[in-house]
Amino acid sequence: MAEANSKDYVVGVDLGGTKILAGVFKSSFETLATTKLSTKAQRGVKEVIERIARCVQDAVDEADLSLKQVAGIGIGAPGSVNFDDGTVIFAPNMEGWKDVPLKKELEKHLGVPVFVENDCNIGALGVYGAELKSKPRSMVGIFVGTGIGGGIIINGELYSGAGHTAGEVGHMVLDINGPKCGCGNKGCFEALASRTAMFQQIKAGVKEGQKTVLTEMLGSDLSDLRSNDLRKAIRKGDKFVDKIVEEAAEYIGIATANLINILNPEVVVLGGGVIQALQDEMMSVIIETAKDYAMAGSLKGVEIVASDLGDDAGITGGAVLARRHAKD
Ligand SMILES: [Zn+2]
Repeated sequence: MAEANSKDYVVGVDLGGTKILAGVFKSSFETLATTKLSTKAQRGVKEVIERIARCVQDAVDEADLSLKQVAGIGIGAPGSVNFDDGTVIFAPNMEGWKDVPLKKELEKHLGVPVFVENDCNIGALGVYGAELKSKPRSMVGIFVGTGIGGGIIINGELYSGAGHTAGEVGHMVLDINGPKCGCGNKGCFEALASRTAMFQQIKAGVKEGQKTVLTEMLGSDLSDLRSNDLRKAIRKGDKFVDKIVEEAAEYIGIATANLINILNPEVVVLGGGVIQALQDEMMSVIIETAKDYAMAGSLKGVEIVASDLGDDAGITGGAVLARRHAKD
């Protein structure tokens, strides 16, 4: 058991539009306990903040600790965040989240220092601080899931930009005639290669009469489709699914090449649920395509790797953020 006064622990929180995850971590970023609570964003900002506090308290309790033993709490929020004052400037998928002083409110509830960052930035920080064995000076994280997000680390620090919005790699336009994106533009990386984009292509194909083992596995409406099902279909020899996943991987490779051309980072990390589920199917295509599109010489010394943190990248990054900034 830990001594009552030692603040060896940190908590990482991943605030999403549908669920809140919290994890208690030791100094070596091993998880002691994790908890999950639905966000209930429709109930308003005040209640979501109370639910975050409850989720943190439950995780700390689950780890047989008290909040007094926690040095700090790091939170990733889905939107633009001012790290300096801990305000969520705007969260597009959460009703009413505009200029919310999340740090101040949670510190009031929990009595522990709180640090807030954008969720994808924090994911990149999690990979950087807890997963990468080497500690490169520069790294770009690309997270492919429902959408596509990213985080940029330069000289060991997150780069947040002039207005705290840097790292939005998912909205780099790769095809000006491409499909419409949630942001209003056409042909964003996210609209071409996210899980949502792949699922839309699959469902549209099935509507047009395309044969796929997915309908045998899940029924014709494909309402329960998950990334893992795409892997299963490919392994059963489904050419239709294979082509869609390969095209998405090519777009991820092109985006990787663009980022390498601009930033020339030492490491590019691919993460998120899609990469976790389809690592074997996608990574070689991503790397080959990145080689094809990167400028001559720009790949020298650049490593392109997959993250195994999956959905834990957020809470792990929160823990790394808290560890970096909390004074114990
Ligand atoms: Zn977009």
